[in-house]
Amino acid sequence: MRIHPLPAFEDNYIWVLRQPRGRHCVVVDPGDEDPVLAWLEEQELGLSAILVTHGHGDHTGGVRALKARWPDAVVYGPSRERVPVVEQPLEEGASLSLEGLDVSCRVMEVPGHTAGHLAYRLGDVLFCGDTLFAGGCGRVFSGTHEQLSDSLRRIAALPGDTLLYCAHEYTLANLGFALWVEPDNEAILRRKLAEEEKRSRGEPTVPSTLALELATNPFLRTAEPAVIAAAERWAGRPLNGHREVFRALRNWKDQDYD
Ligand code: ZN
Ligand code: FE
Repeated sequence: MRIHPLPAFEDNYIWVLRQPRGRHCVVVDPGDEDPVLAWLEEQELGLSAILVTHGHGDHTGGVRALKARWPDAVVYGPSRERVPVVEQPLEEGASLSLEGLDVSCRVMEVPGHTAGHLAYRLGDVLFCGDTLFAGGCGRVFSGTHEQLSDSLRRIAALPGDTLLYCAHEYTLANLGFALWVEPDNEAILRRKLAEEEKRSRGEPTVPSTLALELATNPFLRTAEPAVIAAAERWAGRPLNGHREVFRALRNWKDQDYD
C-alpha cells in the first residue's frame, strides 16, 4: 500500500491510500475536495471509500463533492457523534475490506478530541486524525480529558513500529511545548533539529513512529518522573495517575503556550 499526503488549508493533511497498480484509492478526512479531485484526475484513479475520523469541517468539508463525483464511494465514520455525511457508522473493532486495497482495516474508538473520534488501523499504519499529533495531541472539544487520556494510552500500547498518520502539520510547535515540559530531554532536542530540517526542505514531518512519540511526546509520557514533576509544578499540587497528569499538561499548553 502507498500513502500520499495532500496538503489542504493552512496545515491539514488529507491522506490517499492505493495499491501500486490499483485502479481505486481510499481517502482519509477530505476536508477539501479540490486537492483530492485534482490528484485523482492526475493519477487516473477512482475513489472507492472515504474514511472520516471525526465530524470537524476541516476533515469532512470535501465529502459531499467527492460523493457527487464518485457516487459508489462508501463514506465510513463515527457512530458516537453526529456526522451527517457518514453512510456507514462504525464501532470499536469493526473490520473493513476496502476496494482497491489488499490490507484490511480495523476501527479503534479513540474519543476525547470529539466524543466519537475514530482511528483506522491498516497493518502497521494508524490514521489517528486529531487524537495524537506528532509531538502532541488534539485539544478536548466534545469529548473529555479522561477519554483523551485513555485513548492515548490505548494508542501507546500498539507496536513501537506503528506509523502514525495524523491530520495536521503541528509538529514544530508541539516540540516547542515538549521542551517546556522536558528541557533536558535529548531525544526531543534531536527530534526538533531533524524535523526543522524536513520543514526547511518543504517535507512533511508526518508520519512518525510510535517509538519516537513515546520518547518525545509529553502526552504519551505521563508516567515519566520528569513529566509528572513539571506538570505538578504548573498545577501547584500533587497529581495522581495518567489522567491527572494528562489534564494538567493539556491545560498548561492551552492556557500558556498556544
Ligand atoms: Zn478536529
Ligand atoms: Fe482538524
